[in-house]
Amino acid sequence: MVALSVSLAAYLQAKDPAPSEAAPTVTGAEALNLLKEGNVRFVADKLNHPHQDRTSRAELAKGQHPFAIVLGCADSRTSPELVFDQGLGDLFVIRVAGNVLNDETIGSIEYAVEHLGSPLIVVLAHERCGAVKAARDTIATNGKAPGHIQSLVKAIEPAVATTSSADAETTAKANALHVAKTLRESEPFLKEKAAAGKLTVVGAHYDLDTGKVEFLSEGAK
Ligand SMILES: [Zn+2]
Repeated sequence: MVALSVSLAAYLQAKDPAPSEAAPTVTGAEALNLLKEGNVRFVADKLNHPHQDRTSRAELAKGQHPFAIVLGCADSRTSPELVFDQGLGDLFVIRVAGNVLNDETIGSIEYAVEHLGSPLIVVLAHERCGAVKAARDTIATNGKAPGHIQSLVKAIEPAVATTSSADAETTAKANALHVAKTLRESEPFLKEKAAAGKLTVVGAHYDLDTGKVEFLSEGAK
């Protein structure tokens, strides 16, 4: 049995307010620690598999209070609940190839921040991302990706522009940081929350080989 850390204990004790209210149960920093601790368990193969039983399901049926929002890639190897060893109701997850933004993803994130009280957004890039590779290859040849994939290329283009002479992982990290910055400055809701210190937005990069998540920035940047 793994001993409860201070931050996890704080979370478990504080998770009781009415689910319909947007009062955060943890701070952004505490939420970040919960994710870091979960990823350490994942890397070490010492999983807790929290909040996946009948009791949790019954409790969560009354309402959700996810402690973090994760905008991740659709890549089948990067499930946030798995790599952070979390369960039902813990994470509000939006997944789209290349972890890019559009009105729908921003709207989903605004909902979780405003109505569910989530104090942390993690933009989770990953190693050997097909969307990042497609963007780099397409832009390098002045080409156009087939079908709707071109929309992903356009979304990742700002990161490619600043990292075209570096490797693909540098582009993936730059893209996560660019998306995090865009969210931090997104008006009206997210910018206001971030400026008031009630919302933390960080970029991160998942290593497919080791399972480790590297957090690229914390707080204002
Ligand atoms: Zn990807």
